[in-house]
Amino acid sequence: MDFALTAEQQMIVETVRGFVESELYPLEDQVERQGFVPPEMGWDIAAKVKQLGFFACNMPEEVGGGGLDHQTFTLVERELGRASMALTVFFGRPSGILMGCNDDQRERYLLPATRGDKFDALAMTEPGAGSDLRGMSCTARPDGDDWVINGTKHFISHANIADFVIVFVATGEEETPKGVKKLITCFLVDRGTPGFTIRDGYSSVSHRGYKNCILDFDDCRLPSAQILGELHKGFELANAWLYGTRLTVAASCVGRARRVFDLAVPYAAERHQFGKPIGANQGVSFKLADMITEIDAADYLTLAAAWRLDQGLPANREIASAKLYASEMLSRVTDEAIQIHGGMGLMDDLPLARFWRDARVERIWDGTSEIQRHIISRDLLRPFGA
Ligand SMILES: Cc1cc2nc3c(=O)[nH]c(=O)nc-3n(C[C@H](O)[C@H](O)[C@H](O)COP(=O)(O)OP(=O)(O)OC[C@H]3O[C@@H](n4cnc5c(N)ncnc54)[C@H](O)[C@@H]3O)c2cc1C
Repeated sequence: MDFALTAEQQMIVETVRGFVESELYPLEDQVERQGFVPPEMGWDIAAKVKQLGFFACNMPEEVGGGGLDHQTFTLVERELGRASMALTVFFGRPSGILMGCNDDQRERYLLPATRGDKFDALAMTEPGAGSDLRGMSCTARPDGDDWVINGTKHFISHANIADFVIVFVATGEEETPKGVKKLITCFLVDRGTPGFTIRDGYSSVSHRGYKNCILDFDDCRLPSAQILGELHKGFELANAWLYGTRLTVAASCVGRARRVFDLAVPYAAERHQFGKPIGANQGVSFKLADMITEIDAADYLTLAAAWRLDQGLPANREIASAKLYASEMLSRVTDEAIQIHGGMGLMDDLPLARFWRDARVERIWDGTSEIQRHIISRDLLRPFGA
């Protein structure tokens, strides 16, 4: 693959970086202090992104999106990763799974989401089913032509601003050689549907202001027209359209690590102790050397995985490696940046403690580090029948 950016990619990177630095950085302290994004602030960001022509840049052109390829979209995510996620969520990247909409759903969900008229959230996780999603207990039972949903989802990101939620529920069971497995179906559920409640989730140490929610389904009745994709084929649909989301986590970790690094280098050069810059000590300068080596490694892993997707090559293992390495790299880089800053690194005057806290969730959501290692090792050992 060619690591040189095209003129168009360079322009996209500069535009997104400029937007992030001029429009989002100045809002971060307020959001961090308040713990939420005031609605008018969020919708103002979305309006500016639309003006810039970047809203739904991840979606294909034929549905009104920006039509970026995986590599270019990864570059966008890398730049967005520099800023607070509570703010960048309004940059508007609808879930790719909406490409599974049928003609009727296209008008009601896909096109409004691409235009930015409706926001989506995606709900799989439950209190009793995290890594083991097949263990979910949220169910939909058929009743005439309707489905009646009962159960609870939790940790659902930005459902507080969602007009509808893409929800995965169990709709039956099947016998497999490995035992009984739940059949999963994906539903589109509008905010305000009777029996469906979106309530505040937990207060998180990472990404303050980026809300997670709890969704309750209490005899929530939905017509079959709300099924996204085919009955019992929810995971197949997710695999077809959501394969790239872990890559966006990797890309944003790289972007944030570069922002952290850009604070650490001048500090190491300018802070004097014992009559010389602290960076003159190998105890400090070697940290910088390790940090940039790891950041570049994560960057190249991420771009290489995106390139494989663009070539139509298998990329499951490569995406898992990128997500695993980039998220663990970010934790190490933020930790060392604080060490280089000494006590000041922990103070709210600098954003480093925030980056350090924010880094923690990256190793957990979109599949924990252990699950990524599971994906990678299965890919290595399966051909040997192990
Ligand atoms: C802030 C936040 C936002 C989120 N947003 C969303 C969202 O929008 N939509 C959504 O559906 N979900 C969302 N999630 C859920 C997230 O994807 C899950 O938290 C994650 O998949 C892990 O599930 P769990 O927290 O239940 O941990 P568990 O699955 O209970 O895991 C606990 C520990 O056991 C380990 N473990 C589990 N199984 C294995 C195994 N087989 N081998 C080795 N180790 C194992 C895990 O790696 C982990 O260390 C979000 C989570 C957070 C924290």
